[in-house]
Amino acid sequence: MSYMGRYDIEKVKTFMQEQDPKIKEVKEFEVIGETNLPSGKSYYSCECPFCKSHIDIQKWSFSTTGKKCWRCGAVLRAALAVLK
Ligand SMILES: [Zn+2]
Repeated sequence: MSYMGRYDIEKVKTFMQEQDPKIKEVKEFEVIGETNLPSGKSYYSCECPFCKSHIDIQKWSFSTTGKKCWRCGAVLRAALAVLK
């Protein structure tokens, strides 16, 4: 699923950089799959839009705390990845 068209990513980036000047880049990312373990844990499979690493984000944290990319340090949350 793509969020392009719902909002202008450049405007979102400008807005976020006004809030936090340390932000270098903002990109959209997509959920490419999901995993539901018998233990009850469930994950969204995502690809970091900056370094293309595969990242599993627990569903409960997808829209709240997000997840930091283990390779490049971008934070993936909801539909946006933010690199500082
Ligand atoms: Zn990354």
